[in-house]
Amino acid sequence: MTYDMLLLRFGEFTLKGKNRSRFERSVHNHIKSVLRPFPKANIIKEYGRLYVELNGESPEALAGALKKVFGLVSISPVRVCPSELDSIIKTAVEFVGQKELTKETTFKVTARRVWKPFPHSSQEMNHLVGSPLLRAYPQLKVQVKNPEIELRIEIRQERTYLFYEVIPGVGGFPLGTNGKAMLLLSGGIDSPVAGWEAMRRGLEIQCVHFYSYPYTSQLAKEKVMELTRILSGYAGRLKLHLVPFTDVQTSFVGIGQDNLIITLMRRAMLRIATTLAEKEGALAIVTGDSLGQVASQTLASMNVIGRATDLPILRPLVTSDKNEIIRTAIDIGTYETSILPYEDCCTLFVPKSPTTNPNLHVVERVEASLEQLAARIEAAVAGTETLIIKPDTNIGASSPNDEEPVVNEDWF
Ligand code: ATP
Ligand code: MG
Repeated sequence: MTYDMLLLRFGEFTLKGKNRSRFERSVHNHIKSVLRPFPKANIIKEYGRLYVELNGESPEALAGALKKVFGLVSISPVRVCPSELDSIIKTAVEFVGQKELTKETTFKVTARRVWKPFPHSSQEMNHLVGSPLLRAYPQLKVQVKNPEIELRIEIRQERTYLFYEVIPGVGGFPLGTNGKAMLLLSGGIDSPVAGWEAMRRGLEIQCVHFYSYPYTSQLAKEKVMELTRILSGYAGRLKLHLVPFTDVQTSFVGIGQDNLIITLMRRAMLRIATTLAEKEGALAIVTGDSLGQVASQTLASMNVIGRATDLPILRPLVTSDKNEIIRTAIDIGTYETSILPYEDCCTLFVPKSPTTNPNLHVVERVEASLEQLAARIEAAVAGTETLIIKPDTNIGASSPNDEEPVVNEDWF
């Protein structure tokens, strides 16, 4: 099947009047970056729409790459011709002729006249194109409901587009157009998915990971770096803050409050993330919490844990079922890495019966009794190393780097 272009459709953000050009720029940059491996493909912007000229590139491969572009609602590989009746009919006949037509292949034509000065209405065009098709291919049979082939024709001033398929994109808002947030990224299944959902909603994210060397290994850290690398495929590049958490975490061990350890740890994580957020100009914290999944994710736990920060905590997965989360993890490519068996800092020192209903006053009293805690939290922030990770970063060989971060628009 020969196609000339991909037609790209965008979603809800096109409605937002004054932000439109910022959104369009972000989408345009994102598309440029995902199409970099396809040098012949050419992006064209015309009458407020975006198209990609194939110039011999595979439409399937391009559509696959474009599924990483947030804000893109659907993609159609199209054939183009001048907006003149004769040429539309001729192109339609040739285009349909490229399909494998068996006896009694059902079909219909759906024309849409967007350019009103075109002399034939949408209805007329269905017949004007349908009849020559039936004459050329007698095996075709018209069927209005669920035909095997639906030839869609969109008549615009600049040209006419013919296509069959509408391939869904990921939708959402263009990357980074809704502000910045810190993602608490563990090595688990949930938080990478939460990060992707946040990005899809237009958030620029920076990842924060807490590790407890020597209780957690280099491999556990590399696993999180690899997850960040996979997520960076949706963002161009991502910052990863690696926070040394051992001293903070061991503050809570052996104080006779084992069932509160997770609650205390989570609150400390939020405090540290909040300080990092302030430094980075982020306005929210994103977590992979899903209601009821584990003891620290009951409503009562979320309540007590969440009070450790003034920033809004965004929990994109709060009402998702585990199966849905796993499906998304597989789709976005993080699942295989997430299930690698390396330990997380939270699985250390985990009590037999973590509380599902912590008491805020008790928790606050325990924290107040730990004289070293505030200093250790400060030290953890000071000891944080920040990496910039890109899709082509070599994780095994990587070491802290001091590359300057760049603003979102230049990311690609
Ligand atoms: P995940 O699969 O994301 O690890 P989970 O179901 O295992 O989630 P928890 O381990 O209870 O849940 O963690 C809840 C959330 O707390 C995580 O989704 C993540 O946002 C954050 N979190 C947990 N451990 C860490 C860590 N070591 N570093 C950064 N964030 C963490
Ligand atoms: Mg976890």
